[in-house]
Amino acid sequence: MGRQNVASGQQENLDVLVSTQTVIQEALEKLGYPEPVYELLKEPLRLLTVRIPIKMDDGSVQVFTGYRAQHNDAVGPTKGGVRFHPDVTESEVKALSIWMSLKCGIVDLPYGGGKGGIICDPRKMSFGELERLSRGYVRAISQLVGPTKDVPAPDVFTNSQIMAWMMDEYSRIREFDSPGFITGKPIVLGGSRGRDTATAKGVTIMIEEAAKKRGFDIQGARVVVQGFGNAGSYLAKFMHDMGAKVIGISDALGALHDPNGLDIEYLLEKRDSFGTVTNLFQNTISNQELLELDCDILVPAAVENQITRENADRIRASAVVEAANGPTTLEATKILHDRGILIVPDVLASAGGVTVSYFEWVQNNQGFYWTEEEVETRLRDIMVQGFANVYNTAQANGVDMRLAAYMVGVRKMAEASRFRGWV
Ligand code: NAD
Repeated sequence: MGRQNVASGQQENLDVLVSTQTVIQEALEKLGYPEPVYELLKEPLRLLTVRIPIKMDDGSVQVFTGYRAQHNDAVGPTKGGVRFHPDVTESEVKALSIWMSLKCGIVDLPYGGGKGGIICDPRKMSFGELERLSRGYVRAISQLVGPTKDVPAPDVFTNSQIMAWMMDEYSRIREFDSPGFITGKPIVLGGSRGRDTATAKGVTIMIEEAAKKRGFDIQGARVVVQGFGNAGSYLAKFMHDMGAKVIGISDALGALHDPNGLDIEYLLEKRDSFGTVTNLFQNTISNQELLELDCDILVPAAVENQITRENADRIRASAVVEAANGPTTLEATKILHDRGILIVPDVLASAGGVTVSYFEWVQNNQGFYWTEEEVETRLRDIMVQGFANVYNTAQANGVDMRLAAYMVGVRKMAEASRFRGWV
């Protein structure tokens, strides 16, 4: 996949797997690891493709394609969400599994990365069809996953209800209750307090750290958030609660802009379960216009490849904090970095979700549950430490925050693989 640049005739690489591999290779070279380490880490160790036949409500049968990728399990079981989206591809799932490994390395969790996805559009499916698809997926991948092998979680367009069906199906197959098979469950089924808001909380902590480095106050800062789903909507709320002015938000259909600050409480009340709210308004702007708004903090919290070399010169934020996975291309990263814009990369900024997923798994294994305050304190400690490691690595090596994050993240996997005698 590539984007034709009319001026230079060269393509900008938009394949997230290829760009991830490029940065991994660069990070390993900087760290002095030999070529076989890159050969091991450039692709997942395992990728399962499954076909899932589902009886639809109208009596027809539809066959869905799904994937589960396990990037590297040298450190521990693999961990990562399941995405339900029409644009899911094998390459995207592979890249997402590698990002999960990097996140776990950066925030020092005892996991490798995994990821799953099903090509489907849950917005066009009934509750019953979604349940059958969720259960069918678990039946199809059950050999490969489990509390000590590979632990799924929510991602784009999947939620705690879907996790509950998946946990129930897995427990039935194994014939014992297995809450530790999956995270992001409802609290009554062993979910962790604070999991719903974990990604946004982690991004908020990253914004606080970025603000300290850049010397601006969050109180009164102008914030733009692309995406109003799990990550984006809570983030907008936390920023609003901290006294920032959220001047722009968006969803898949468009964006809202008010230089005086949007009424976030109202928008939260009105958004649907897929994070759509702009359809209720008339004076919308496009997602591209939203990204180019004059602001202090821009938070992409939707999909990949939103900031590219086509628009990187027009980004007017002083910090870009990536809640989404892969929202900025490598060329755009270089442009933003050269322009002095601080990028807090996805593999660091959005690690709050997997961190609280880890807490959920620990609580399931112990059968002992923590308060929201305990979750939040532990999350803050881990995220602040992750930011400091990445920031200091960037400064010490004179590299951008993305390459620094990869250096921090990849080192643990490389070391664990080396100690196991794999490379
Ligand atoms: P979600 O499904 O809850 O919400 C997605 C939001 O993005 C919705 O508002 C949707 O309308 C919007 N959107 C979809 N396509 C869009 C497009 N083309 N342009 C603009 N907006 C679009 O998803 P989420 O869980 O909030 O995840 C968002 C991003 O954050 C993803 O990249 C995901 O991988 C990443 N992330 C999420 C978590 C988590 O715990 N939820 C953790 C880490 C990373």
